[in-house]
Amino acid sequence: DLLVVGSANADLVIGVERRPAAGETVLGSDLTVHPGGKGANQAVAAARLGARTALLARVGDDAHGRLLLDSQRAAGVDTDGVLVGGAPTGVALITVDPSGDNSIVVSPGANGRLTPGDIRGARELLARARVVSLQLEIPLDTVAEVARALPSGTRLVLNPSPPAPLPEDVLAVCDPLVVNEHEARYVLGEAGDRPEDWARDLLALGPRSVVVTLGAEGALVADAGGCVRLPSPEVDAVDTTGAGDAFTAALAWRLGLGETLAEAAGFAVRVGAAAVTGRGAQESFPRAGDSLPGEGE
Ligand code: ADP
Repeated sequence: DLLVVGSANADLVIGVERRPAAGETVLGSDLTVHPGGKGANQAVAAARLGARTALLARVGDDAHGRLLLDSQRAAGVDTDGVLVGGAPTGVALITVDPSGDNSIVVSPGANGRLTPGDIRGARELLARARVVSLQLEIPLDTVAEVARALPSGTRLVLNPSPPAPLPEDVLAVCDPLVVNEHEARYVLGEAGDRPEDWARDLLALGPRSVVVTLGAEGALVADAGGCVRLPSPEVDAVDTTGAGDAFTAALAWRLGLGETLAEAAGFAVRVGAAAVTGRGAQESFPRAGDSLPGEGE
């Protein structure tokens, strides 16, 4: 099974002609509310593809929390590990202007109350997981507890987003560490010119393997055995929101099925490409049986 440990947010989106300056009030479109957060996105993406998936997360005892639980269940995610209460559900307040530029305020809410104790209380979920997928929209000491509590033989996939300094003992169990260009540059501090250089330097920090996603260029995987590029199929990109989450979910699932890193990433770039062809995050994730871009090539 795949266990996603991470965030669940309600994305509150308003379209505006112009994003407000300090002290300014602007009128916007009707509000739309979408389930989001990197953990919730990954769990939905994996379950849609057919993965047996559970989510370990925390939401508030409120309407946004129920929206998130409903969307997880509709996708087929096991939500027994979703804890309720302690703070309002995490929210992202998003204003988008006609050019697509946005301003976002995130209130972590209940995500910030997912504690190391919550992880220790979920021993059974962890024991069932072949792969655990983690991101950084929950407290860092909770992330560290997952790394510590990982059963032997369970593989950890970590996407350090939003980027933050990672303890060595967390880095050491990542297999792989999954980063986009921005996250690679943050984790490295000083980065060379080529993604191959980033991968080599990231590996030197201790993870067992590394995946660098490169947007329309696809991805690059690296481990002790070497470095391989997986080009993404060409698609008409409509909205890249959630592409990285779809990619990581697909990768984690396929690794759990026993595929090699390059095989799993070759599948994941096609899932990522599919996710950019539709609007929104979870709305655009492909379903099992959908034909993916680049299939049969
Ligand atoms: P993030 O969304 O985390 O910034 P990327 O932009 O690197 O991550 O995208 C993740 C994956 O989504 C890529 O590896 C690729 O497979 C797919 N993808 C993203 N943008 C495009 C695009 N414009 N065309 C095709 N595939 C894309």
